[in-house]
Amino acid sequence: MESIARLESEVRGYVRSFPTVFTQSRNAHLWDEQGRQYIDFFAGAGTLNYGHNHPRIKAALLDHIQQDGVLHGLDLATSAKIRFLETFESVILRPRQLDYRLQFTGPTGTNAIEAAIKVARKAKSRSHVVAFTNAYHGHSLGALALTGNRRYHNEHYGSHNNVSHLPFDGYFGPGTDTAAQLRALLQDGSSGLPIPAAIVLETIQAEGGINVASDDWLRAIRALCNDFDIALIIDDIQVGNGRTGTFFSFESAGIRPDIVCLSKAIGGGLPMSVVLIDPALDVWQPGEHTGTFRGNQLAFVAASAALPLWREDTFAHQLKRNATSVETRLNALAQQHDLPPARGRGMIWGLCLPSQAAADAVTQACFEHGLIIETAGAEGNVLKFLAPLTIEHDTLARGLEILEYALQQCAPIHDDKRVAIP
Ligand code: PMP
Repeated sequence: MESIARLESEVRGYVRSFPTVFTQSRNAHLWDEQGRQYIDFFAGAGTLNYGHNHPRIKAALLDHIQQDGVLHGLDLATSAKIRFLETFESVILRPRQLDYRLQFTGPTGTNAIEAAIKVARKAKSRSHVVAFTNAYHGHSLGALALTGNRRYHNEHYGSHNNVSHLPFDGYFGPGTDTAAQLRALLQDGSSGLPIPAAIVLETIQAEGGINVASDDWLRAIRALCNDFDIALIIDDIQVGNGRTGTFFSFESAGIRPDIVCLSKAIGGGLPMSVVLIDPALDVWQPGEHTGTFRGNQLAFVAASAALPLWREDTFAHQLKRNATSVETRLNALAQQHDLPPARGRGMIWGLCLPSQAAADAVTQACFEHGLIIETAGAEGNVLKFLAPLTIEHDTLARGLEILEYALQQCAPIHDDKRVAIP
């Protein structure tokens, strides 16, 4: 830890919340160098949907390395890439009757967003993009322009040109239909809002505080994109890959986005990003958007090992059972502590505490008792539940027990001054 404090930039973040040196990890457990065990309700911010070191992923990686498989390939044809493309097509796209071209970008989510907005702008010959309040799309400058929270912005970074932030579903409370407002702005030639090339949204805003868009709202946005010839880009970087209970987060709404950004868990825990593009919008020239680390070979191998889980009943059953337990237990905790009902779906949930101080006290108490859980939201007051989808039922129950204990220890959480870490 001393070398981290001495050598690593001030920008470091999570290490400050969880100040220990982790050495090992398996499924939903981490261990530190003192041999302390932690339950992981954070899952690499949604990267470890299949848990740490899933045995199938591990075996496939070891085998690939053992056989001297290609480790770096830019966008050359490799056997690992072809296997991934074919697996993704047969396991994910075809059963959902989806037809997309896949673009591999540099392996971070923010890279995928950059590519998505560029290709949409080019295809629609317009530069404006609409994003939403509390959106989080990454930190490179194009993606940052779409990210709402002022905490990540600094006037000296340069302009946010060509982006408008409009109210997300529920932003003004349940009585206001923000999709209808957006439609009215688009219809009014004098509203000041240019017709955008794209509308970019997360179906559940994860970093933004677990704000869930209703299926009706998503369908209304899809309809206005059709009516005004706007590309609908769904950022499924955090809430795709099964996080909401289905592989894509938009499945329950029955909509078909024009572009989908996937990252985080798509690589089975290894860095990888993919942009799914409607073939009609695939207007790239060869090599027009590149990146040295696009198409991470080891991530192709890991992903090809993980995706077949989506065909297996045991995986689907475990996911459903875990999701039901979490929802029930978190809502019971919310009621017990006089908090608003838990927000979320599947295996992403948020518990809204009255203040950031209260949320920080609870996450600290959790950490001290062996549970890793993070906060989210504009005010940092939402406890964000994000365990691996594959968490063992007992481990999940134990983690929820620790959370309950931490909430009790920090009660009464409605009065900041009385928040006490045990
Ligand atoms: N979009 C969403 C919805 C995200 O949650 C994140 C990461 N938290 C990003 C984009 C950016 O991804 P990355 O940090 O890999 O650049």
